[in-house]
Amino acid sequence: MKFKFGKENIVCGCSDLSYGTLVFLDDVLKEKVIKNRHKFFTRLGIRLENTVFAGLAHGSKVSLVTEKDRGKGAFDSNSSLANIDGMVTSTKNTFLIIGTADCFPVFFYDPKKKVVGLAHAGWPGVLSLVCQKLVKVMQRNFDSDSKDLQVLLGPGIRSCCYDLTEVPERLKKFSDVFEKEVIKVHNNKFFGLKNRKFLDIISAIKIQLTGVGVLPENIQDSKICTCCEHDKYPSCYYTREISDKRKPTKRRMLSVIGIIRYQGPGASEIN
Ligand SMILES: [Zn+2]
Repeated sequence: MKFKFGKENIVCGCSDLSYGTLVFLDDVLKEKVIKNRHKFFTRLGIRLENTVFAGLAHGSKVSLVTEKDRGKGAFDSNSSLANIDGMVTSTKNTFLIIGTADCFPVFFYDPKKKVVGLAHAGWPGVLSLVCQKLVKVMQRNFDSDSKDLQVLLGPGIRSCCYDLTEVPERLKKFSDVFEKEVIKVHNNKFFGLKNRKFLDIISAIKIQLTGVGVLPENIQDSKICTCCEHDKYPSCYYTREISDKRKPTKRRMLSVIGIIRYQGPGASEIN
């Protein structure tokens, strides 16, 4: 899926399950993953050689990415940027990548300074304010004004599905930081249970973005829930809590953002 985001020279999108396994696992042939990745990135008009993968840690460390980082994590997992949950770059044809299954990819674009960013926002990263930290890295290094920033919230698990009634300590952590508005009470559609407590990570992300000056009208939402659309996107929560506890998904959705060197309408780095 390609998101329309910013001007024509921004590539921004997510993979879906149709591309097969896109992350390196012990029981999957490396060549197969590389082939699947080539297929996905070619579809977006970019080269796998120019992608940079974050080696996620559910933290809030943000890295500045430049030309020298191209290819890190693209052909093996060991060379990905270790313990990084946010990346920022102004280098053209250098594409930021994260792999998720329920955690939110949050895409950033500063059209004035020509800078892009990508954050991995799962519940621990959201609690440690990864999105705010990414905005601060853009401000500090590129003199970005948060009022100029365009933000897009990608697919992830939403308050329609993320039932944490049995995990009250996690809900408390969120209500301590973001107030009660991030907890929604409704019925669990999978089990028919009434008055359950659901975590609304999207609201928590919006609160932290507007807290550092991002304008609400500049926040776009893909509105895709990975758990509702588990046939199309990988969802750890769906496989672990609803379908088969013994077989949590090993699939990951890849998210990508980058600035393509402009070559005219429908720009692509692949001719
Ligand atoms: Zn849902």
